[in-house]
Amino acid sequence: MSETLFEKIINKEIPSDIIYEDDQSIVIKDINPQAPVHLLIIPKKPIPMLSKATESDKELLGHLMLVAGKLSKLLILDDTFNIVINNGENAGQTIFHLHLHLLSGKSFNWLPA
Ligand code: AMP
Repeated sequence: MSETLFEKIINKEIPSDIIYEDDQSIVIKDINPQAPVHLLIIPKKPIPMLSKATESDKELLGHLMLVAGKLSKLLILDDTFNIVINNGENAGQTIFHLHLHLLSGKSFNWLPA
């Protein structure tokens, strides 16, 4: 399998705006931001999409959620942000390496009435 764009970013083969990094994850600024703060929380393990994660990824998935909380404190987001995961092409996923979108500074009025 060829490397995804995010693997190239993780391996520093292509540049990105890195906000946070630890042994299991990296957080970069989205190149096409949809909100004043738009970050991508990316596991270093190349899971293609959320629905392909397995029991063995349980700890890693929890870790990604905790990173979101850490970023909220780090960037003083006032505990106000949205997390979005696009799963599959028909749901808008374009890069097949799991990632969480963290969006803040904009109200999305998303929830159906
Ligand atoms: P998705 O459509 O959920 O797969 O999200 C992919 C995201 O990656 C989009 O929001 C893109 O704007 C973003 N993206 C694409 N290329 C880059 C890049 N080189 N650096 C940072 N973000 C990127």
